[in-house]
Amino acid sequence: MNADPLEIQKFSELAHRWWDPTSEFRPLHEINPLRLEWINARAPLAGKKVIDIGCGGGILSESMARKGADVTGIDLSDKALKVADLHSLESGVAVRYKLIAAEDMAAAEAGQYDVVTCMEMLEHVPDPGAIVRAAAALVKPGGQVFFSTLNRNPKAYLFAVIGAEYLLRMLPKGTHDYDKFITPAELAQSIRSAGLELGGMKGLGYNPFTKLYSLNDDTSVNYMVATRRPLAS
Ligand code: SAH
Repeated sequence: MNADPLEIQKFSELAHRWWDPTSEFRPLHEINPLRLEWINARAPLAGKKVIDIGCGGGILSESMARKGADVTGIDLSDKALKVADLHSLESGVAVRYKLIAAEDMAAAEAGQYDVVTCMEMLEHVPDPGAIVRAAAALVKPGGQVFFSTLNRNPKAYLFAVIGAEYLLRMLPKGTHDYDKFITPAELAQSIRSAGLELGGMKGLGYNPFTKLYSLNDDTSVNYMVATRRPLAS
């Protein structure tokens, strides 16, 4: 199985705090409107069939459903999925959550999704390339796949590990393993070898003074990538 049990455990232990916007998940809450609008501008979500790989407690999944998408969220943390289900019941925004590996879902539902999202997850798995291939298999020809992850360089180490975990204490120590960070070149390579075409790339910046996130062209720390499956594939 392409999953690190310690990673899954880490997210399971925090799962009850997933929807608390002041918790360890604050960064996900804060970046969510930015990534949601970026995705929705490229792939208008209303009426689309979407799968969110590594959905966790469902911050992105639910927000895409609010835009009118028919969303399936998958993850390997049972606890996170329970929290996601509960939140969806409370909010009345329906999402189908499923405990299943991306590769198994790709075997079961190949080519069935208009849009695939996989955000802040690749840097937690042993073989991110296999997740990229699963995402490519899940999307319909002509459909779009969106990824986000953390770049690997000294600045990313300083901001994403030292800054976020030690100085600002936004994230618990050990949330991120620097060695698993992925450079845009490495991700682009996996994307191309999975048969997807690379579209735009955007950086997600954090200003520790204003405490605000913004989208920009600086992909040196946290970044998102838009890709498309060619029509004839
Ligand atoms: N994508 C969500 C959550 C990111 S947190 C968001 O951006 O809001 C990372 C999530 O990846 C956690 O929920 C964790 O359980 C999940 N995860 C880690 N390894 C995984 C794997 N191998 N398969 C599926 N999900 C995984």
